[in-house]
Amino acid sequence: MEKVAVIIPAAGQGLRFGGDLPKQFVPVMGKPLLAWTLHAVISAAPVSSCIVVLPRDNFQHYKKILESSLTELLTSLTIQKGDERRVCFQNEQVSFITVPGGSERQESVWEGLKVIPDGIEWVAVHDGARPLVSKEVFLRVFEKARLVGAAIAAIPARDTVKRVKNYSYDYIINETLDRSTLWLAQTPQIFRRDIIIRAYEEAFSTNFVGTDDASLVERLKNPVAIVEGDPLNIKITSKEDMEWLTWHLQRKNAK
Ligand code: C5P
Repeated sequence: MEKVAVIIPAAGQGLRFGGDLPKQFVPVMGKPLLAWTLHAVISAAPVSSCIVVLPRDNFQHYKKILESSLTELLTSLTIQKGDERRVCFQNEQVSFITVPGGSERQESVWEGLKVIPDGIEWVAVHDGARPLVSKEVFLRVFEKARLVGAAIAAIPARDTVKRVKNYSYDYIINETLDRSTLWLAQTPQIFRRDIIIRAYEEAFSTNFVGTDDASLVERLKNPVAIVEGDPLNIKITSKEDMEWLTWHLQRKNAK
């Protein structure tokens, strides 16, 4: 069985809900948003390592919050070695590793890539702020990545997309893009380990900063396949997204 590690970047400091907690730690139905994401990921994917990248400032504090919600979510905590602990989930051992992130998402993922254990062949990256990822999406992306070496979840653009220019008084349309060729990238994004490591090394050595992981691999001229994601798999960004998430989780848990 090929071994998969999942990196969950959750080191953003976005205090978008008006409080003093980064959005991924805001409680939803009694648990931090990030705990819901972790649960969804390890239920969805056959992972042997889960690397969670936490904010560098107050790292120990966020680690504690995460660990107490993990203890509730998962079964027995068996081994602990430094920042790694092995947790039993559905009879499988998953090693959880926490590391401090950086000031950009790309730096945070890189910190995660540096601690991938030996023997891992595939690396999935999934945003800490996407708690509604499904097993179907994960498996679809993984199946394609195994054929191509790299694949991501995305959804085809349904609305017409405009490129705009910002004039001092307003935004004015500059161009209308051909939506039949446009997809909106989500995570998970899954790569063969050597490909994603090479892509990150190349990006840092040329000072390239991308907003997702695939864009770094594209620069190597490596093919990256697109697989249909899920409109539910949104990145929680606003207060309204949070309300919608609560409603959705209540509905799911009531079933
Ligand atoms: O900022 P954005 O919403 O694109 O972040 C996507 C994911 O990347 C979030 O889960 C966020 O916590 C994470 N992130 C990170 N390190 C940063 C910025 C964002 O791990 N410096």
